[in-house]
Amino acid sequence: MNDNRVRELIIIGGGPAGYTAALYSARANLEPLVIEGFQWGGQLMITSDVENYPGFAEGIMGPQLMGEFRRQAEKFGAEFLADDVTRVDFSERPFRVWVGEDEYRAESVIVATGATARQLNLESERALHGRGVTYCAVCDAAFYRDKEVVVVGGGDSAMEEAIFLTKFASKVTVLHRRAEFRASPIMFDRARANEKIEFVTPVVVEEALGAEEGKLTAVRIRNLETDEISEIPADGLFVAIGHDPTTKLFVDQLDHDEAGYLVTQPGSTATNVEGVFAAGDVVDHVYRQAVTAAGMGSMAALDAERWLAARDISAERSALTAPRA
Ligand code: NAP
Repeated sequence: MNDNRVRELIIIGGGPAGYTAALYSARANLEPLVIEGFQWGGQLMITSDVENYPGFAEGIMGPQLMGEFRRQAEKFGAEFLADDVTRVDFSERPFRVWVGEDEYRAESVIVATGATARQLNLESERALHGRGVTYCAVCDAAFYRDKEVVVVGGGDSAMEEAIFLTKFASKVTVLHRRAEFRASPIMFDRARANEKIEFVTPVVVEEALGAEEGKLTAVRIRNLETDEISEIPADGLFVAIGHDPTTKLFVDQLDHDEAGYLVTQPGSTATNVEGVFAAGDVVDHVYRQAVTAAGMGSMAALDAERWLAARDISAERSALTAPRA
């Protein structure tokens, strides 16, 4: 199908950034099309209680929060397509976006495709996800008050999460596959100085245990030097082995850093392609919060709206000043 209409704005991605961009741009009468992904809703769809999104003093379930975001944007006229974008062409305007064979065109685009936490790729990890296995200490640490937890990873994220977890947990064991740590010395030293944190290396997690109980009870690890197998009792398994931005579709057309995160101009959500904006975790590898992504989504919508308005004014001006035939 070819949608012959040239829209003002297409938003790619259906998480906090994409839906907030949709809300703001719909209220500005841009009638955005949100191509939100087959698994719409983003990372919050795999979280349970969200206690740190402002405005919900009692907390809210992640999927419910995303449903509300979506409903609010829909109320003001945003249109949704729950499918994955397969190709884009930002080389000329109108920009072109494909979902399989179907082509959509727009004068401006907001990319809000997010990022995903790397997984250990264990079946037991998937089975206990949300039941002790988690990817975000900031989100879930408070559920582990006076409990024993393990953190997997040897980078800054793992150190930061381990240190943060000590505010709640009674013991934090950091498991890392090498004896050397990738983390910056300052973060590593801070974690080492913390009495609640213990390090076990070089080990890999072979299994998250507790499927029968319906919640994590321990992790089974293997020492890579001795091949010895052992178990560490734990109520929480925090996987902190990095994130990957969802940018495969864009890396040959938009500026990005070494890790693949899109780069925007300072103080703006504008990318290197005029009329293409980016917001949320696809840009931000530092804060990665629903509330920061939502904030950037609103910024991208305002940037797109202003850019479209400036373009319309300059088109009107050139029509007025063009020599008559
Ligand atoms: P990272 O630096 O890429 O570290 C990932 C860690 O996970 C590495 O230690 C890696 O082991 C390990 N790992 C990767 N895949 C694994 C697997 N399948 N099984 C077991 N272990 C695995 O990622 P990050 O820690 O998320 O940091 C990302 C960036 O954000 C970095 O530039 C970091 O400095 C920055 N950051 C900064 C702060 C801060 O300054 N406050 C906080 C968080 C993040 P190997 O070392 O063996 O490869």
